[in-house]
Amino acid sequence: MTMKSETKDKVALVGTPCHMTAAAKIDTFSDYLGESPLDIKIGLFCMENFSYSYMKQLLEENGYDMKDVIECRVEKGYFWFYLTEGRLFKIPLKEAKSCMRKNCQICMDYTSEDSDISVGSVGSPEGWSTIIVRTEKGLKLLEDAEEDNYITTKPIEDSGLKILKNLARKKKKENKAEITKREHVGRPVLYRRYISEDDFAEEVRECQFKDLKGDVIDVGACVLCGACLLACPENIIVIEDRKPQLKGKCPEGCNLCYVACPRTYNPKKEPLIESDKKPLGDYLKIVSAQAPMIKGQDGGVATTLLNYALAQKVVDQVVVVDKNRNHPWKPVSKLTNNLAEVLSASGTKYAACPVFKSLKEEQS
Ligand SMILES: Cc1cc2nc3c(=O)[nH]c(=O)nc-3n(C[C@H](O)[C@H](O)[C@H](O)COP(=O)(O)OP(=O)(O)OC[C@H]3O[C@@H](n4cnc5c(N)ncnc54)[C@H](O)[C@@H]3O)c2cc1C
Ligand code: SF4
Ligand code: SF4
Ligand code: SF4
Repeated sequence: MTMKSETKDKVALVGTPCHMTAAAKIDTFSDYLGESPLDIKIGLFCMENFSYSYMKQLLEENGYDMKDVIECRVEKGYFWFYLTEGRLFKIPLKEAKSCMRKNCQICMDYTSEDSDISVGSVGSPEGWSTIIVRTEKGLKLLEDAEEDNYITTKPIEDSGLKILKNLARKKKKENKAEITKREHVGRPVLYRRYISEDDFAEEVRECQFKDLKGDVIDVGACVLCGACLLACPENIIVIEDRKPQLKGKCPEGCNLCYVACPRTYNPKKEPLIESDKKPLGDYLKIVSAQAPMIKGQDGGVATTLLNYALAQKVVDQVVVVDKNRNHPWKPVSKLTNNLAEVLSASGTKYAACPVFKSLKEEQS
């Protein structure tokens, strides 16, 4: 039994480190899950994510409405909301952390170590992005985009690189402490078992959605990526109340949601994600970059790389995260080949988004 059907198109995915880990895991277990359509992975840096409903409530308590927010930024120790009529509401990050998703407290990856190219703001001047190139595929995409004048790059400054490494180390250290705390009270963090892929496959042979619920969803480990929903051949997983939920009966022998979930096991051979020695993971090069024609969150680089990959037919479609029309700033994922839609999705939405759901919608 494998994922029900697969889009034949090649797809680029942009997303947070946990999205990249899920995509990498689907690749690793393609014998079980089927060939993944995801060909290029553009990962973002991510210290934490927030609950959309808590954020909305926090704004309302302070007399503001989500529909008036034009831009959100996390910068200089504050969460900033830029609002209509030139209004600005900022809240210390320490206070905004009350809205942080619980699963982010056990996340050890700051810079999308499983991507082809990672993009973030930390390490580069305002209006620029920091790019970490990790694979030959990522390198070719960046070099081609630069040669065709879509993107400008310059060496990252030593001081910027130092800040980036320190933040990545800080995330690993603090969240490792939280993992240890959870493990002491009998809430094991499953993705930190360093067993072989074969041992994992054997161990989870009979694990079904009820186990995923007990081991991941109910213990505050679910990243809300939607990989379980994509993997389900019976189409009986839905996301309701910001959680995956089962709407049917699992046939005997199926365990695909449990296999696909990035929080049941991480197939990295060594505990690299915990390593202080390699706080940014493996990479080929790091640069500062800018796409001056695009108004993005930082350098507009993520949007430009996606549009370049579409324009050059490196991929047929891309998955982006846009704002929900009916609920301002609630993120919604879209599979598209429309350059205008990719452009409209630029900018950061600080809430979790089940990006793999859009691939399922394409299949059904
Ligand atoms: C939750 C979150 C936390 C982040 N934390 C940090 C941080 O701590 N430090 C740092 O340096 N950078 C962080 N970033 C990355 C940063 O905000 C920018 O996305 C990055 O610098 C790229 O800028 P850009 O101008 O090149 O991107 P843009 O050209 O503006 O493109 C941004 C892309 O991000 C995608 N996107 C937006 N929201 C989401 C989402 N919720 N989930 C998945 N994809 C999304 C959109 O589809 C768009 O394609 C974070 C991003 C997110 C989503
Ligand atoms: S689990 Fe949270 S902190 Fe980690 S990558 Fe995902 S959204 Fe970011
Ligand atoms: S929900 Fe049930 S049918 Fe769907 S993948 Fe999981 S175990 Fe299989
Ligand atoms: S339970 Fe589903 S949505 Fe949650 S992390 Fe696992 S695969 Fe992603």
